[in-house]
Amino acid sequence: MKNKNQIKILREQIDEIDEQLFDLLDRRFGTVKKLSRIKRKIKISITDIQRQEKIIQRITQKYNKIDPKFIEEIFLSIFDYSKILQLYKIENKSLIKNLQEKPLLIAGPCSIESKEQIETISNFLKENGIKFLRGGIFKPRTSPESFQGLGIDGLIYMKDAAVKNDQYIVTEIMTEKQLDQVYDFVDVIQIGSRNMCSFGLLKAIGKKTAKDKKPILLKRGMNSTINEYLSAVKYLTKYGNNNVLLCLRGIRTFEQIDSELRNTPDLASILELKEKTNKKIIFDPSHSTGNKKHIVEISKAALKLGADGIMIEVHNKPETALSDGKQSLDFKQFNNFLKEIR
Ligand code: PEP
Ligand code: MN
Repeated sequence: MKNKNQIKILREQIDEIDEQLFDLLDRRFGTVKKLSRIKRKIKISITDIQRQEKIIQRITQKYNKIDPKFIEEIFLSIFDYSKILQLYKIENKSLIKNLQEKPLLIAGPCSIESKEQIETISNFLKENGIKFLRGGIFKPRTSPESFQGLGIDGLIYMKDAAVKNDQYIVTEIMTEKQLDQVYDFVDVIQIGSRNMCSFGLLKAIGKKTAKDKKPILLKRGMNSTINEYLSAVKYLTKYGNNNVLLCLRGIRTFEQIDSELRNTPDLASILELKEKTNKKIIFDPSHSTGNKKHIVEISKAALKLGADGIMIEVHNKPETALSDGKQSLDFKQFNNFLKEIR
């Protein structure tokens, strides 16, 4: 009886502590919102990575009985949540109409690397009439040692640039959690080649977009047949969202063994898909060749064969890019690309 009573008392204390914790969190989020209004007014970024690191360091030192990894994990969740609270919801005015543009051009860096990088690229693309800004914030890298993307900070930088330049955001999500986190701030949800077969993820995206019919760009799996690809599309459309764009990004063959191609551009698949589906077909010359020297010619071929658009990687300094620099066009090369394809 005595033990039972003690359990009851302790549990009541825990419940009380939990409420205090959330009262404090609620206060923290309110304060963050106030701060962000001021930051917006004086036009400074709502994210400050150095300050974040300092906060974690200070708390880790002060509460040294708590595992630092745990402290870091909690803070990263709090930071992400706080930042999302400060983002504008998108007004995707005319999105569907703009997706009809022919050829539809989607351009930007492989990854968002910094505020300055994405601002520079977005400004340049705006000058050239590009309305769809691509860029990875969650990166599906072959090695866990490679740059994994800036996450929510990347989204904030990208969003700031896109809002300023009246562009739509196209970005990849790899998990359901990421989908929920960024959903309201992304215009076109990209599903990468590696996830074309993640059926749980496809279902979740199909269900989540069923109501608002947010457009989805589904890349072809690098090892997938055309029919497997079309089956993956069905996972997305099954719940009622038909706004799916197909993106061919090259497939694995033995050509990679001794050529400079990263993938084999699946150009004939444009013709096959046009027979089998009425979805828009976007060709990605960057990943399908992995090599900028072929990009213009392959893009022209894709458009000639009936592709509805091109998704292409562009970088202000490809030689220092944190991912896919070798296949990214610099500004001059991009201008030449536009001249050739328009
Ligand atoms: C990308 O678009 O940067 C990307 C990772 O593409 P894929 O999924 O085609 O490899
Ligand atoms: Mn890339």
